[in-house]
Amino acid sequence: MKAEIITIGTELLLGHVVNTNATFLSRELASLGIEVYHQITVGDNADRLKEAIELAESRVDLIILSGGLGPTEDDLTKQTVAEHLGIDLVLHEETENKIISYHKNADFEMPPNNQLQALILAGSTPLANDTGLAVGMMLSKHDRHYVLLPGPPDEIKPMVKNYLRNELVKYLLEEQVLVSRVLRYFGLTEAQLARKIEPVIKKQTNPTAAIYAGDSEITVRITAKAKTETEGNQAIDVVEEEIQSYLSDYFFGYGEKRLADVVKDLLIDRGLTITAAESLTGGAFLSELTGDTSASAILEGGIITYSNEKKNKILKVRKQTIEKFGVVSGECAIEMAEKAQQLFDADIGVGLTGVAGPSSLEKQIPGTVYIGIAFKGKQSFAKHYQFAYKRNRNRRLSVMHALELVRRTLEELPIEKTLFFDKDS
Ligand code: ATP
Repeated sequence: MKAEIITIGTELLLGHVVNTNATFLSRELASLGIEVYHQITVGDNADRLKEAIELAESRVDLIILSGGLGPTEDDLTKQTVAEHLGIDLVLHEETENKIISYHKNADFEMPPNNQLQALILAGSTPLANDTGLAVGMMLSKHDRHYVLLPGPPDEIKPMVKNYLRNELVKYLLEEQVLVSRVLRYFGLTEAQLARKIEPVIKKQTNPTAAIYAGDSEITVRITAKAKTETEGNQAIDVVEEEIQSYLSDYFFGYGEKRLADVVKDLLIDRGLTITAAESLTGGAFLSELTGDTSASAILEGGIITYSNEKKNKILKVRKQTIEKFGVVSGECAIEMAEKAQQLFDADIGVGLTGVAGPSSLEKQIPGTVYIGIAFKGKQSFAKHYQFAYKRNRNRRLSVMHALELVRRTLEELPIEKTLFFDKDS
């Protein structure tokens, strides 16, 4: 199946809004094995939208439109498609009831044009909007499929993931099912990862493997078409095994879980607490562990110490450590980790020190970072990193590598090139 995405909105053409829907839709379609041949953007103008639809009809069989389903005058997608296909718009009662009760509950008077959001193309399959009011829809006519989706990203995403995917799969696969599995990696770049699994990517047909780069984390999604879910999973197992033979050192988990979530869950599962003394990251490391769900089970506190004086006075890092080895050193990182661990009586202490940039410090160049780990009952250690980016990227990478270091420590995985500190020497 070949697809074209038409994003609608004058704000997109003016550059006021970044067209994230096109990227999102392309990825979703690719993961279903649907090839997107064109992406096109038109303003809120019925004639130009009609032209775009006619052009798409001349070259693809699946036309996905996003935007212009709202209640205002410039929202004309449904009306234009209806007119173009010679199909009536009819009321979708479920959506109408939802819109009425939304206004009742919110104690707003309902403007009459809000009802427009409950109109659908006659004969189309409605796509529920879990986070907004405008209903989406899919219509098949003359061997072509038309999909109408809302513009706001927080509405289009659940609609596609929860409803459109299932509808498309029905057409695509007939009696088949589509099964997918997401593998997550950290510690190498997208290009490095792609090179490592090149043999898998080159020969892929079914299952397929697609690589997505995120914020230092990389995702590989394996998707299989099969007669049953079990058969699909078996086919995925084979591909996963081959991928892991190249990448297992960098693997940290499945699904949507980020590295921080994995670390948090490991700490919760093992009943362990964590703390940190942060210099260059200014609290960003612990902040990663406090998002989404409550962190009180794993975290009682942490400390940010930028100046040498506060490192010594509050954190109790010894003056001689700073004088002898420098504040940007493995020794200082280890001592920061240990002192924080003692101060907050935690199981694991993390110490982060380094030069984020733009200027050098103690003759160390920007991007020089040391992360120390103190884990109760084990020998403390530090690891040196040399990043080569601008300040904020260096700080972000420090946070991510600190999370990875904690994960590897908890899972007792090998950690290369660690530094130790014999304090009596
Ligand atoms: P509404 O009910 O909010 O009017 P709608 O379905 O009519 O929804 P639009 O009016 O086209 O959608 O867009 C609403 C908002 O959604 C835009 O102002 C913009 O912020 C966002 N949006 C629309 N299209 C896109 C897109 N392609 N990528 C990212 N954001 C978009």
